[in-house]
Amino acid sequence: MSKRTFAIIKPDAVKNNYVGKIYNHILEKKFKVLSAKLIKMSKFQAEQFYLVHRDRPFYEELTSFMSSGRCMVLALEKENAVESWRNVIGATNPEDAQDGTIRKLYATSLGENAVHGSDSNENAEKEISFFFCESELI
Ligand code: UDP
Ligand code: MG
Repeated sequence: MSKRTFAIIKPDAVKNNYVGKIYNHILEKKFKVLSAKLIKMSKFQAEQFYLVHRDRPFYEELTSFMSSGRCMVLALEKENAVESWRNVIGATNPEDAQDGTIRKLYATSLGENAVHGSDSNENAEKEISFFFCESELI
């Protein structure tokens, strides 16, 4: 069982001042924050990060949104981290997300849905190394 996942507090949530509230969810759910930083992605960086979605109709909108303002990227550690974090954030569309999940509480819309979470152990490791070097993961 892998212990790491990758999260983003997306630009909508940073703009709406939900960083503190979402960070509290992370701690309350007993994730260890290995690293966290505020960044502003370039459009190119967002395009590379979401390359798997390049043929989807929302790719342009998504990568423009993700590079539109500051976001917080985080490397999280917990037993079964990937699945556990996906459960905490809720369904992609906040309208479908269960009560108490981060997307239900803080998302703006399907596109601007407050947070990201890796969908597999393999992608978690790729995504962590996309934004963090080893010396930052402490
Ligand atoms: N997205 C969107 N329209 C859609 C599906 C997804 O704008 O119809 C955006 C949304 O921000 C989502 C991201 O693209 O979080 C990545 O989509 P994915 O299906 O991987 O959802 P996630 O893994 O984030 O729940
Ligand atoms: Mg995804």
